[in-house]
Amino acid sequence: MQDNASLVYQFDLLKEENRQLSLDKHIFDKFLDVSGNAYFCYGFENGNFHCVGNFAGMLGVDVNTIDDIALIRDVIKAEEADTVMDILSTDPEKNADIITKEFALKTGRKWIEINAFTIRDDEGFPVEKYVCFRNITRLKVQKDELTYLAYYDNQTGLINRNFFIEQLNDRVEKAREEHVPMHVALVDIDSFKRINDSLGLVYGDELIMLFGQYLSSFNNERITVGRFGTDVFVISVYDPGKDASIEAVVEKIRERLKKPFILSNKDEIYLSVTVGVAVFPDSADTGLGVLQNAEICVYAAKDSDREKIHYFDTTMMKKFLESFEVEKRLQDAILMQNFVLFYQPQYNVSTGQLRGCEALIRWKEHDGSYIPPMKFIPLAEKSGGIIPIGQWVIRTAVSKLEEWRQKYNFNGIMSINISAIQLKKDSFVDDLIMFLRSAKIDPENIEIEITESVLIEKTSEIIEKVSRMRQFGLKIALDDFGTGFSSLSYLRSLPISTLKIDKSFIDTVISDDTTGIITESVVNMVRRLGLETIAEGVEEEGQMDFLKKINCDNIQGYLLGKPMTEKDFEKIVLEAAI
Ligand code: C2E
Ligand code: CA
Ligand code: CA
Repeated sequence: MQDNASLVYQFDLLKEENRQLSLDKHIFDKFLDVSGNAYFCYGFENGNFHCVGNFAGMLGVDVNTIDDIALIRDVIKAEEADTVMDILSTDPEKNADIITKEFALKTGRKWIEINAFTIRDDEGFPVEKYVCFRNITRLKVQKDELTYLAYYDNQTGLINRNFFIEQLNDRVEKAREEHVPMHVALVDIDSFKRINDSLGLVYGDELIMLFGQYLSSFNNERITVGRFGTDVFVISVYDPGKDASIEAVVEKIRERLKKPFILSNKDEIYLSVTVGVAVFPDSADTGLGVLQNAEICVYAAKDSDREKIHYFDTTMMKKFLESFEVEKRLQDAILMQNFVLFYQPQYNVSTGQLRGCEALIRWKEHDGSYIPPMKFIPLAEKSGGIIPIGQWVIRTAVSKLEEWRQKYNFNGIMSINISAIQLKKDSFVDDLIMFLRSAKIDPENIEIEITESVLIEKTSEIIEKVSRMRQFGLKIALDDFGTGFSSLSYLRSLPISTLKIDKSFIDTVISDDTTGIITESVVNMVRRLGLETIAEGVEEEGQMDFLKKINCDNIQGYLLGKPMTEKDFEKIVLEAAI
C-alpha cells in the first residue's frame, strides 16, 4: 500500500507533467499556426485519426474526424482532386514527396504544398501515416510577381528586352538547325519624346500601353513581340514567308496608325513609326547580332523616308561606326574647345557699305583641316553638346566684336546662329542678357539668327523668349526663309527684325520667273512691315543686280566674300573704316 504522502506526491508529479504537456501542446499549436502548417495523422493499428493545426483557416473546411476529409474534395481544383484525395486516403502506399497543388476556395485561390509519408515497423507493416499541408500562397504569389517583373513589361504586358533576347537566341538556334531565316524588326515611335512632353507622363504612359497592347495581338507561335525601350518595340518573325511576314505585320501596323489612339481623357493621338529590319543569317550569325543590326538600321532610317521598311545593310554599319566615331571625337573637341569662328561679310546693297558679319563655326582638326558645321551641329544637337558649343560661340563672337570696336571703331553687326535646342533651354535668354550686360555690348550690334523650325514645339514659350530678346534691344533674324516650314504667318507672331532669304531662292531668282516674282513680293512686303532683308548665297553679279532692283537691303554670299578667318575679316573692317 502506498502511503498518502506518496500518492499526493505522484499526483502532483502527474499534474505537473500534464501541465507541461498542455503547455507544450499550446506552444506546438501556436507554432503550427505561425508556420501555417497542418497535419493529418492516421494510426494503422488502432485506426486513430488526429488532426493538428488550423485546417479551417487554411482550407475553409473544418476537419476533425476522418470522415470530414471527404469535404476537402470540394475545395481542390477539379483536375487535381483525385490525386490529392488519394494522398489523403488511409492507403499506406499513396504518399507524396512535396508537391504543390492549387486549391480553389470560396475566398480565392491558394497554393498548398503537400508532403505525405508512411512510417513502418521493422517488419515493414505500416504504423502511422502523416500528411502535411503547408500554405505557400504568399510565397508563390511573390515568386510569380518576381518572375513576371523579370520577364514582362508591366505597362504593356509584352515580354521585356531580356526575355525577348533569351527567346530570340533559342529561335535563332532552331532556325540554324532548320535552315530557315528569321526576321527581327525594331519599331520606333517617331518623336515620342515630343508627344510625351506635350501629353504629360500619365497619358504618355497610357499611349504606350495602348500601342503595346495593339502590338501584342500579333503574338503567335511564329511572331514574338517585345518591348525594347520606352518607345521602342521589337518583333521577331520565325521562318517568314509561309503565312507570316514582317512586311505584312508592318503593313497592318501602318494601317492601324492611320487611325488615332484614344486616351481616357478623350484625346485622339496619331502616331507614326520607323521600322528597321535585320535578317538572320544574312546580317549576323547570332540573335544579339541581328538585334543590334536592326537597331543600327532604325538609327540610320530616322533621317530618311519613314514610310518605308528599312533593311539592314553593311553600308549602314559603316556609317554608324563613322558617326559613332565622330560623336566621340566631338566630345573631345568640346572639352578642348577645338573650334574656330569664321566671319562672312554682309553688305548693304544700295550703298555697298559693310553691314557686319555672320559668325560661322568650324571644327578644327589636329591636322589643321576644318570640319564644316553641317557635319557636326546635328550630332551636337542630338547629344546635347550644342549647349556648351553654343555658349562658346556667343562668348567668342561677342568678345571679337568688342575687340574690333575698340581697335577699329567698328560699329557693325555680329550675327550669331542659335540652335533650337539652345533656345529651348529655360535659362537661355536670362543667361544671354546677363552675359551681354557684363560685356557692356550694345545689343543693337548683336543679331540672333533663328530658324522657323524652333517654332514647331512650345510655340508660345519660344515667342515669349524671342520677344524678351527683342525688348532687350537685340536684333532677331529669321534664317533660311523659303525652306521647309516657311510661312509668312510667323512674321505676325514673331517679333523679328530681319528676314534672311535662303540661298535656294537666290539660286534661281533670275532663271525662274516665279521665284523672281515671289522674292520681289516677299522683299516688298517685309519692307512694308519695317523689317530688314538679307539675301543669302549670292554668287553672281546678275543676282546682285536683281536684288538691288527689287530693293533688297543687304546681301551675303561668295560673290562679295566667303566665310573667312578673323585675321582676314579684320582687313575688311579696316578697309571699311577708312
Ligand atoms: P546658315 O546659317 O544658313 O549659314 C550660311 C551658310 O551658307 C554658311 O555655311 C555659308 O558658308 C554658306 N554660304 C554663304 N554664302 C554662300 C554662297 O554664296 N554660296 C554657297 N554655296 N554657300 C554660301 P556653313 O558655314 O557651312 O554653315 C552651315 C550651317 O551651319 C549654317 O547655315 C548654320 O545653320 C549652321 N551653323 C554655322 N555656324 C553655327 C553656329 O555657330 N551655331 C549653330 N547653331 N549653327 C551654326
Ligand atoms: Ca545663319
Ligand atoms: Ca541661312
